[in-house]
Amino acid sequence: MAESMKGLKRTRRCAEFSSADIGNTVTVMGWVQKSRNKGGLVFTDVRDSSGILQGIFGEDICGSQVFEKAGRLRSEFCIAVVGRIRSRGKDVNKELTTGDIEVEATDLRILSESDVLPFPIEAETKTREELRLKYRYLDLRRPPLQRNIALRSKLAISVRNYMAENGFLEIETPTFIKSTPEGARDYLVPSRVHQGEFYALPQSPQLLKQLLMVSGFDRYFQLARCYRDEDLRADRQPEFTQIDMELSFADIDDVIAVNEGLLKRIFKEVIDVDVELPIRRMTWQTAMDRYGSDKPDLRFGLEIEDVSSCVKDCGFSVFHDAVAEGGTVRGIRVPGQGHMPRKKIDALSEVAKYYGGKGIAYLCVGAAEDGSHKSSFTKFMSDEETEALIASMGGEKGDLLVFAAGKTELVRTVLGNVRLTLGKELGLIRQGDWKFVWITEFPLFEWSEEEGRFMAMHHPFTAPMEEDWQYIDSDPGRVRAKAYDIVLNGTELGGGSVRIHQADIQEKMLEKLGFTEERANEQFGFLLEAFKYGVPPHAGLAYGMDRVAMWMAGAESIRDVMAFPKLKDASDAMMGAPAKVEEAQLSELGIKVDEEAIKASQKKETDG
Ligand code: ASP
Repeated sequence: MAESMKGLKRTRRCAEFSSADIGNTVTVMGWVQKSRNKGGLVFTDVRDSSGILQGIFGEDICGSQVFEKAGRLRSEFCIAVVGRIRSRGKDVNKELTTGDIEVEATDLRILSESDVLPFPIEAETKTREELRLKYRYLDLRRPPLQRNIALRSKLAISVRNYMAENGFLEIETPTFIKSTPEGARDYLVPSRVHQGEFYALPQSPQLLKQLLMVSGFDRYFQLARCYRDEDLRADRQPEFTQIDMELSFADIDDVIAVNEGLLKRIFKEVIDVDVELPIRRMTWQTAMDRYGSDKPDLRFGLEIEDVSSCVKDCGFSVFHDAVAEGGTVRGIRVPGQGHMPRKKIDALSEVAKYYGGKGIAYLCVGAAEDGSHKSSFTKFMSDEETEALIASMGGEKGDLLVFAAGKTELVRTVLGNVRLTLGKELGLIRQGDWKFVWITEFPLFEWSEEEGRFMAMHHPFTAPMEEDWQYIDSDPGRVRAKAYDIVLNGTELGGGSVRIHQADIQEKMLEKLGFTEERANEQFGFLLEAFKYGVPPHAGLAYGMDRVAMWMAGAESIRDVMAFPKLKDASDAMMGAPAKVEEAQLSELGIKVDEEAIKASQKKETDG
């Protein structure tokens, strides 16, 4: 039995009342968090987006009809309660902001009833995510998600205000476009009008925002929805939002200045955190060498040292061979951890193996009872070699030294991940620490073994550093890009670059990336054409807004800051998307689903 709210007007939201309201008659509306009959009184917690207020029904005050109705209340009934705010006296509930007051009800309307829920609406949940996402509208009633979504809204508004104050225009760009160059797989939309042809959903508004610079808009931004058809890793979603921007007549420092201002503003406004400016800058090379990652977590030390020159002639063949074969030997000094149990050291080796290494070599300085070292490899080295290695790592008695040897790239990845594991396991990461860093001077290209060619590390429109352009033919791998990433606590929040605005450099770049003139023209001829008509130097950046919100909310996953995220298999459990469509819809599009091909590819997947 659902009643109307005719004649009633909500006074305020539940948690917006305080002891200042005592004595006032009010109307609150919301959901029943819980309702119980205790000693002839019905206590009902009413919850809305602001929080909870306790209602209390006593037959002598509200009359038998209302009292009887209150007795029927169950979790998540949607109700309106009219009554007088009164003090709870000594009976304060410290858990609630309204814990010192309650509404002494005189009237009750059941606006709508609720079936028994598939899971309870409570802050902490043990319900598995698949079920929560199927009933996302209920999941979203949980206070932490209410808070996250509100925070995200605050973030969006804060960004908009800052950008507007700094001369940026918010310009929308279309979502039915042609493939963009971010390097992931496109989502395609078939055209009915042009049968057999497809739009691609934007992986980012990259080319369009560059065209807006050609159009003379000077500064653009957009909270842009982007689509990438990738296998979903932990914090990826097929569709996500970028805080996207582009600036004309701008170089690296201009972009960084605007964005430091933005970061300072949004972190202060949304979560009251002071971002210290200027944000540290680190070259890609330094990040890779010292932290084994282009998104270093600077909340703790444990930097990586290169000991190749120290061990290149030592007796331990693994070290010796690695250097002889053009690789490196690098290590991490873990102060005071020389007593680490073997099991834990072995676990570090497992981390190394997970990332493709052969394991780690360790040395516990002076850890044996007689004061000698415990180690997996010093038996192959002379005492002098061992002591020289310890000295080159700055090792002291009681320290643990771990090493990896092999190809430089692999050694970096392995030690970068061993470092992260150590940071977490040893509790070195201080909560509430915000370590921002700009990573600069990325390589322009990265070599793809798979494709046997150079690929753009950022995208093909990223400008090279002027001083490196001379190596474009002789040693393309040496050319650095005017690209930058903003990293927070070991995650990339965003990235961007200065763009190429000179036709000859763009041509050369495309040639190096293996584009024929035809293919370049086919894919982004419109951009190359536009660049013939007076293109301003320009640069830009885009943040993964979901990740920014995730950090601000202290959430574990970007799904927790999205209203309706998708499952790991990119499906929407609530709506049941993707879904089959009517034959007629397909034939209008000139599309026929190839059931045989689907079966074959499904079989391949299960076999593989
Ligand atoms: N469009 C780029 C990206 O999505 C960002 C940029 O270069 O502005 O990564």
